Amino acid sequence: MNSILKIVEKDQLNKGKLSLLDKWKNRSEKTAPKGIAPKPDKAAIPISYGQKRLWLLQQLFPANSFYNYTEYYRLKGDLNEEALFKSVERIFKEHDILRSNFFIEADRIKVSINNINSIDIVKHDLSNKSVEKIENEVQFIAFKEAQTTFDLANDVLVRIVLVRKSEKEHVLIITMHHIITDKWSMGVFRDQLAMYYRTLCNNEPFEISDKKLQYADFAFWQQQQKIPDLQLKYWKDKLEKPLPFLNLPLDFQRSATPGFKGAFHKKEHTVQLSEKVLTLCKQLDVTPYVFMLTAFYIILHRYTAQEDILIGTPISNRDHTVLEDMIGFFNDTLVLRCKPTEASTFKELLQHVKQVTFEAFSNKNVPFELLVNELKPERSLSTNPFFQVMFLYHAVPETPSFGTDLKLEHQPLDTGISKFDLTLYVSEDKGELSSIFEFSTELFETVTIKRMHEHFNILLEGIVNDPGQMISEIPMLTDEENLFLENTKQPERPFSFNGGIHTYIEKQAEMNPQQTAIVFKDKEWSYDELNSAANKLAIYLIKNGLKNNDIIGLCVERSPKMIIGLLAILKAGAAYLPIDPAYPKERINYILSNANAKALVTETKLTALFDSMDAVVFEIDRIIENEIQDQSVEFPDNNEDDLAYIIYTSGSSGQPKGVPISHKNIINSTLSRTDFYKNDPETFLLMSSISFDSSKVGIFWTLCTGGTLVISEDRMEQDMERMMGVIKSHNVTHTLMLPSLYMLLLKYGNKSSLTTLKTIIVAGESCPASLVSEHFNTLPDTFLYNEYGPTEASVWCTAHLVQKNDEERSVPIGKATANAELYILNENLKTVPFGIVGELFIGGIGLSKGYHNNEEATAKAFIAHPWRKDEKIYRTGDLARYRNDGTIEFLGRKDQQVKIRGFRIELDEIERVILSDASIEQAVVTIESQNYSSTNKLSQASTDEILNVLQELISDEEIDKMLLSVENNNEEIQSYLLENIEQKE
Ligand code: AMP
Ligand code: MG
Repeated sequence: MNSILKIVEKDQLNKGKLSLLDKWKNRSEKTAPKGIAPKPDKAAIPISYGQKRLWLLQQLFPANSFYNYTEYYRLKGDLNEEALFKSVERIFKEHDILRSNFFIEADRIKVSINNINSIDIVKHDLSNKSVEKIENEVQFIAFKEAQTTFDLANDVLVRIVLVRKSEKEHVLIITMHHIITDKWSMGVFRDQLAMYYRTLCNNEPFEISDKKLQYADFAFWQQQQKIPDLQLKYWKDKLEKPLPFLNLPLDFQRSATPGFKGAFHKKEHTVQLSEKVLTLCKQLDVTPYVFMLTAFYIILHRYTAQEDILIGTPISNRDHTVLEDMIGFFNDTLVLRCKPTEASTFKELLQHVKQVTFEAFSNKNVPFELLVNELKPERSLSTNPFFQVMFLYHAVPETPSFGTDLKLEHQPLDTGISKFDLTLYVSEDKGELSSIFEFSTELFETVTIKRMHEHFNILLEGIVNDPGQMISEIPMLTDEENLFLENTKQPERPFSFNGGIHTYIEKQAEMNPQQTAIVFKDKEWSYDELNSAANKLAIYLIKNGLKNNDIIGLCVERSPKMIIGLLAILKAGAAYLPIDPAYPKERINYILSNANAKALVTETKLTALFDSMDAVVFEIDRIIENEIQDQSVEFPDNNEDDLAYIIYTSGSSGQPKGVPISHKNIINSTLSRTDFYKNDPETFLLMSSISFDSSKVGIFWTLCTGGTLVISEDRMEQDMERMMGVIKSHNVTHTLMLPSLYMLLLKYGNKSSLTTLKTIIVAGESCPASLVSEHFNTLPDTFLYNEYGPTEASVWCTAHLVQKNDEERSVPIGKATANAELYILNENLKTVPFGIVGELFIGGIGLSKGYHNNEEATAKAFIAHPWRKDEKIYRTGDLARYRNDGTIEFLGRKDQQVKIRGFRIELDEIERVILSDASIEQAVVTIESQNYSSTNKLSQASTDEILNVLQELISDEEIDKMLLSVENNNEEIQSYLLENIEQKE
């Protein structure tokens, strides 16, 4: 009986609730013949279900040692080598399984037992080396043992190594293939080793034991058993699709073919904590297994926010006393499916986990491979079927006595392997708890797991302090995190916010009037020309009654007039409201009326758009051509809180929302560029439309610092040749565009046309890792930045200088820019620990006051600052997490908002519009996402196909059909399987 099962049983016994367990026990007795008898002599040795699974996995990854089972023992004291060797040999002889091999013959997997009597024991003597060397070498030897694969058909599947460190200290390393052993078996091995060793040291003869039952007898018996229908039904119900995939935040991208490389991190929990946990278990009437598993569920839930989580847990199928001292592979895997939020307090979750575990154990007689076969979970080579994480609880057994002269200590060994994404091993040794997180080093950095382990420990402390707490409230943050998160508020940069943003441009016009301010279609405008034209229009506007904070629509085609127009409106003290002439008329009308626009600046040729409107219309072309400048008009001063512009973005309510930006907001946004970037732009290519906030980068950063703004012609982004021509002929140094557009430029552009570029900014949507390699291959000397920010936070609030090695994982959005505050919070507005997904909230000087004339939307998105009175933070709807170095990684959207060629669109807005047609009852709007890594997908698909076929092969009938006359190596098996697929098609 395995230890976990014992615990569960005891648990139920305590409660006197035996009904389910009784049923299960009775059932297993009915199906089992009275005990397990020796198999008929003539019957071939069958392979057990579990062994078949391991055999197949080993064929799939022939060069991988992931199913090696290595144990590391220290032997302290006087070692009688001869007695040790003889004892090993005796065990080797006694258990047929240790001498077995597995091979294909006549299309079936065959098991053979070798009659060899002795086993080679490899000896190393390191006793004459220095202490440090010895330690390193022992570790090296152990690691190598763990990593050396077995050939299941031809090798002896046990390897024994004895290392002499000194006269009084040895290390014994035992490695077996898992197909012949399990954790319990290793205990049997140790116990027998100790018993025989003591016998030999005392010069007593071995007792001649009766011929014992062997693993083959068990396998034969197992084959005769019927799978209980009710149990199968239980699993079919329990593992009903869709099955959740656990989305732990990874440090590295998952590859299509895993290498199972891993490491582990161990932690001893304090005696006090252990005592508290074990006492609480008694009080709450659960086993430590259930308790620690519940804590694990909480960690996984808090890390992923998922509410339906699958965890694997091994069990041992030694339900009969005769199996208790048998060596062999008896493990099976149970899938536990718990729903962490169905219970909101720890105590409630504990009961839920207890129930699920109990049911699972009560229905354990369906072999895992049969389940896989029956339920056909979606599979790929890169992940396990059903679950990605494992949980094990282990009460450490007493180490057996080797007599008075020798003591054996068992040490966990980091074998460099992780079969799953993550495995939590909890051990209890004489009332003290320790835990090991074994993790895939292909997915996680060591620091990540170290921190997760600390979170686990802090969580346990929190639980024992108050087990009635909501699971979302149990503390988890480490001191280090608390400190970092307190410091995320950037020290305030003392920018001066006097005057409006336009005064910075005026200063440039004063200092360098002849400097080129704007280039459009090969025509240039100097700062003086720009400023004078803007003055002319501003005076006209003022004379016509415009005042501070009035909102003026600006609707002009792409040309310098848009810059002259916005500058003039700002000079007149008003705020500009950019309107794209290509917008539908209803949208234009809605925006102008929602904004209470006082007037509109447009071009003569566009006036027809506004025929039906009441607003005063100013024709910019006429005014700047005809009007004489009136020097007597004075320009108003701007207050820092005066509005500079309003940008309308898509709104889920069905109508766009206006984001008002003050002079202080945009001045901060602009000056923080000078603060962050190495160089201000000499020549900036403006690609964005002025109705997007990303246009402020080019316009204000360039013109406020005296650079030249090159305005792209309409739809230039659709013509790479033209774009390159402009970059080259105007010596463009800086630009900003969508990452998808930059990707196109790199793919279709030629490098020599792009060498003037010093700084490229991508923003507006997620920057794919594939862009990094394209960029560094083409323009290794150009800085590439990833900027992030919603319109509500004035263009940007984080930025990251892209590094070459970002391509290996993903490109972060960086850290907060000057005077911006970023918080990653959970649903309860609590800071999430490092590495954990949360929603991004923004505060600081760049933040808009809230949507224009839209209290409802404002109340939803601009919420009270959780720590500071009278301040607000903005709820972005973006998901993000902190990386180990404190940079932020963008992880997608929480809601339905998407970006299509830079347009921020809330899909609900489109749905509402469609639904407004009375004949439509339901509407669902989706977009097809772009995929940058199609090649990856292809290779994944073919391995999936292979796996599908393999799955079929796992069943008995298919194994019979299997024609594995090819050598047991991966490639050949794969090609065989592929052929098989073709034949089937
Ligand atoms: P907008 O208000 O049009 O600037 O859109 C802001 C939204 O665009 C953000 O909330 C994000 O969803 C997305 N976004 C902007 N910059 C980035 C970026 N660098 N990476 C990923 N998403 C981004
Ligand atoms: Mg933006």
